[in-house]
Amino acid sequence: MKIQILSDEMASRIAAGEVVERPASAVKELIENSLDASATEIFISVEKSGTSSIRVSDNGEGMAPEDLNLAVERHATSKLKVDEDLFRIATLGFRGEALPSIGSVSKLQVVSRSPNAPTAQKLCVEGGKKGEMLPTAAAVGTSIEIKDIFFNTPARRKFLKAPATELSHICDAVNRMALAYPGVHFRLEHDGRTVADYVSVNDGQDRLYQVFGREIAKGLAAFDWRQGELAAHGFLSSAPLSFPNARYLYTFVNRRYVRDKVLTHAVLQGYETLLMKGQYPAVVLFLNVPFGEVDVNVHPAKFEVRFRRQSDVHEAVARAIRQALRQEAKEPGPRSGAISSSSFSGVREVALPYGLSARTAPDNPAPTYGNVFTLPPRAAAQEGFYSSMRVLGQILGCYLVCASSQGLALIDQHAAHERVAFEKLRRQMDAGKVAMQNLLIPQTVRLSAGEMMLLEQKLDVLRRFGFDLEPFGPDAYAIHSVPALLPEGDYSQVVRQMVADLAEVDTSSKLREHLEDRLATIACHSVIRANRMLEMDEMRALLSDLDQIDFATQCPHGRPVLIEISRDELERMFKRVV
Ligand code: ADP
Ligand code: MG
Repeated sequence: MKIQILSDEMASRIAAGEVVERPASAVKELIENSLDASATEIFISVEKSGTSSIRVSDNGEGMAPEDLNLAVERHATSKLKVDEDLFRIATLGFRGEALPSIGSVSKLQVVSRSPNAPTAQKLCVEGGKKGEMLPTAAAVGTSIEIKDIFFNTPARRKFLKAPATELSHICDAVNRMALAYPGVHFRLEHDGRTVADYVSVNDGQDRLYQVFGREIAKGLAAFDWRQGELAAHGFLSSAPLSFPNARYLYTFVNRRYVRDKVLTHAVLQGYETLLMKGQYPAVVLFLNVPFGEVDVNVHPAKFEVRFRRQSDVHEAVARAIRQALRQEAKEPGPRSGAISSSSFSGVREVALPYGLSARTAPDNPAPTYGNVFTLPPRAAAQEGFYSSMRVLGQILGCYLVCASSQGLALIDQHAAHERVAFEKLRRQMDAGKVAMQNLLIPQTVRLSAGEMMLLEQKLDVLRRFGFDLEPFGPDAYAIHSVPALLPEGDYSQVVRQMVADLAEVDTSSKLREHLEDRLATIACHSVIRANRMLEMDEMRALLSDLDQIDFATQCPHGRPVLIEISRDELERMFKRVV
């Protein structure tokens, strides 16, 4: 006989391999248990990056002696009662695996006391062997200590990374939980030193400041979105703030941190055309869905989930992000400068106090501000952010220099034109009719055999974008009309590029998703590339166009349209203040 049933001990150790990958995994499981026990204080103390000891104490509901005795057994959980519970999980834990798994690869000690118990009880497990339960003195709650993790699994020990790396994983684990539970006091100590101490706060925004620090947190705006049973809220960076990796991208489902491709993709799609390639936003997304709509039992460490209606969730999240960004773009605050926290509500402060600063009075009569009121009535009627600026001139053939209410504003005219064209085109596209212009003399575009084949199938799609083409001999097409937005010129290049673009998108459903890339291609061609001096009228028109559209802060490739230098920044640059 070759087959044997594994001993419980061996089975636990195998299960532990999945659940407890590194010290941080144990920290995560223990914090989850504390949160499930309704703790409001969770103190974590680790030594040698968790390899020598990890202690997590909480003031939660504790365990009665008989529960404690069971808690360290495999498949023992208080969180699933009936079969159906598995399909509507409302707790962070449910697998009943964490404590036995940890106990099988370390020296585990659990001290717990429930509110009615006269004393606490202590139970030890070493390498999977349960000791005897003994009474001990302790406050209500639970304190769990793990010593010498992986002492009996040297193979796993070898896979651990440098101490600093393991510690940073532990910090990450704590931070994620802390973001989702601002009302809970979290403290993390390493080798006796406090690494993080997040006192309980009422507002998720305050927790954001605690976890991310002021520098990052002040650049994030709150958002809140709901549609039917799906609700998304959280914080996000508006376009000028971005990062070279997804480090600041956090997604939570029903307050559980998950790494989910669908959610990440949806978030990034919400940002489409607002970030440069390879740049990532900072987003903390809390998605709330009915418990029955999400399966959390698909990953041993519970890092992944499966949605019953995946595409609905995707669309909802992308839309929530998009809408929040649209809101933000309407009020582009000078995020790089000093900014008051009231801007997070999406309300731009009226920057009146400028002229009031005594220091600036005699030699600096604050010209920027006074002029906002002397704008011609035409602009005053709409009083948008851009139209309220005073154009000072144009430099280097491509930048508009303006006085804004905050200080100095520079506008990249090319990026601005591109965004304006892009948004106009998108609106026309959404309305189902792109304005076209007929060419008096059709232009011919010569194509390779492959391109000819491709184009033949995509003629109606191109028409929707405003291009009307007809075959012209065996290796060419004649361009009869183009989008009205395009300036006069040679259109063969943009057609060729559209053909190449469309080749990447095989079905029309995908076209919807990649629509913005195509529109960006056209928008890019709509701008006269050469540097050109603009007349004052043209500059004003451009500013007023920017006020009419969404996302006026970035070009369709994510480059910024506007750079604003605030009074504070100017004063710092000139060393008026330090
Ligand atoms: P799960 O969390 O999946 O139920 P665990 O192995 O993590 O499985 O924990 C087993 C059980 O022990 C839990 O269901 C819970 O009843 C109890 N428990 C664990 N940690 C705590 C704690 N900090 N406070 C109160 N009860 C706890
Ligand atoms: Mg658990």
